[in-house]
Amino acid sequence: MRNTKEYNRQYERTSKRKAYKKNYRKKYGVEHPEKMREKWRKRHQRRKEKIIKLLGGKCVICGYSGPALQIDHINNDGAEERKKHGNSNGYYSIIYKKIKEGSKDYQLLCANCNWEKILAKKPSPQGTEAIKEIKK
Ligand SMILES: [Zn+2]
Repeated sequence: MRNTKEYNRQYERTSKRKAYKKNYRKKYGVEHPEKMREKWRKRHQRRKEKIIKLLGGKCVICGYSGPALQIDHINNDGAEERKKHGNSNGYYSIIYKKIKEGSKDYQLLCANCNWEKILAKKPSPQGTEAIKEIKK
């Protein structure tokens, strides 16, 4: 039979430790904002690299495989999704999970092809101007 007293004590100890750790992290973050930023940036980078690997590692249009690869939402509602999920770290982990589960909503595009797609699909005044600028 489970000893409830012991269990409670154990639980209390764990939650205290958790609270302490949480506080410590919070304090650390306040005192070293640049380190926290660096940490977030690295985590973000790692997630992005994982997604890129899952998606084949190169631009689906021109075959480019370098640092300018971007994760493109095929149906163009990436901005909507981003708005819904807030910070981009969370956003990337959602994408990662979705692709792992077999989602075909995402593809890799290099910055160049991505811009061409954006400009072609959204004929905003700026977009049209930009295309004119490119075609000059
Ligand atoms: Zn490309």
